[in-house]
Amino acid sequence: MSRSAHPAGPRHADVLPEGHYSAPPADLNVLDPKVWSRTVTRDAQGALTVGGIEVARLAEEFGTPAYFMDEADFRARCRSWREAFGTEADVFYAGKAFLSRAIVKWLYEEGLNLDVCSGGELATALSAGMPAERIAFHGNNKSEAEIERAVEAGVGRIVLDSFQEIVRVAHIAQRLGKVQPVLIRVTVGVEAHTHEFIATAHEDQKFGIALAGGQAAEAVRRALKLDGLELLGIHSHIGSQIFDMAGFEVSARRVVQLLAAIRDEHGVELPEIDLGGGLGIAYTSEDDPREPHEIAKALSEIVARECDSAGLRAPRISVEPGRAIVGPTAFTLYRVGTVKPLEGLRTYVSVDGGMSDNIRTALYDAEYSVALVSRTSTAEPMLSRVVGKHCESGDIVVKDAFLPADLAPGDLIAVPATGAYCRSMASNYNHALRPPVVAVHDGEARVIIRRETEEDLLALDVG
Ligand SMILES: *Cc1c(COP(=O)(O)O)cnc(C)c1O
Repeated sequence: MSRSAHPAGPRHADVLPEGHYSAPPADLNVLDPKVWSRTVTRDAQGALTVGGIEVARLAEEFGTPAYFMDEADFRARCRSWREAFGTEADVFYAGKAFLSRAIVKWLYEEGLNLDVCSGGELATALSAGMPAERIAFHGNNKSEAEIERAVEAGVGRIVLDSFQEIVRVAHIAQRLGKVQPVLIRVTVGVEAHTHEFIATAHEDQKFGIALAGGQAAEAVRRALKLDGLELLGIHSHIGSQIFDMAGFEVSARRVVQLLAAIRDEHGVELPEIDLGGGLGIAYTSEDDPREPHEIAKALSEIVARECDSAGLRAPRISVEPGRAIVGPTAFTLYRVGTVKPLEGLRTYVSVDGGMSDNIRTALYDAEYSVALVSRTSTAEPMLSRVVGKHCESGDIVVKDAFLPADLAPGDLIAVPATGAYCRSMASNYNHALRPPVVAVHDGEARVIIRRETEEDLLALDVG
């Protein structure tokens, strides 16, 4: 998806698929379990509950807008990834999707590892007690201070992203008297999104070192020569919100071919490959994501087959799901402020948040679902656009959705699947106060990131 997609959204471009907004769902009160976390349900009065707590109570105690995270769902997703990949592979949660100290603790307890890509994420991980050897450090322009901190802490791997960085990390490690385990991130010429991928020889992007033109092979040559580095293997990440495994097939094949070339040239079989993240989730009922066990099976079969034909021992695989773990675990709760019907077009529903708590719709043309959650309704479906309170006409949270026609100011509506890339990309635009993240579990709700205050805003503004 891109900003140059059809203005009505990627799925609306040519043909409206069946079941699209031209045909509203049969019952607006039904909560599709595909897009809601697993403890979400409606109680006897029709109000949504999560972890056994009703939304009106959550709104009263924590205010709106706010993100509510279903801890049982988060932990269950961690476990299903962990179990699907077994002991032969490693699962690194991509912290950029959403990171807090509580999350780090849950990951630790559920046996997952953690990807970070900045000093701030590293500090969060270390301060919450994630053992450094279970942390991988990513990024295309890590500062010397960040590298030093990571090496000093003893992170399990640094993912090298450029020729300069190979030398930079080696020098820092040597200066600190360490040998740093590293992967080299390569661009394999596969760009995958949703239901399609493009395989090319070259990739026009800032990350990694190209396989094409022998660049990656040269990077390996240099890394193997440097005393401060222990080269563990090759890393590749091909895109985001991917449903189709075909892109991984091409990328795994190209990475394994590189491993074979390394063996032929240097006589070493590198022990690891990391196939990155990017696995898709359901934002609307139209999305059909794969289960972790299907993904694990597909990936290990692809790698085994490719290694077999190259005569290589199968390397240890790692994967880096972010969105697929945290995305479905949270919803954003908003209070409706105004309802503005535009004759013959749609109804604009303004909520008390917007692009400051969910930039994905404006940034990527992302699609979301929405539901009235403080009550049920038998009113007619009304084609709606959920918008925020920012001074920007692109401030859209949900572009097209049906809400009941009796929707009124004061009602609570919720947008599911906002656990990934919403709070982590939240901004203070218009001096909005970033919403809290509240973990809900077994009848208890606990703030894990508190709401920003005007004091927080003014504390940064030194006058
Ligand atoms: C963003 C990113 C991920 C996670 O992507 P998701 O779409 O959240 O699964 C994993 N690995 C790398 C290197 C990334 O940049």
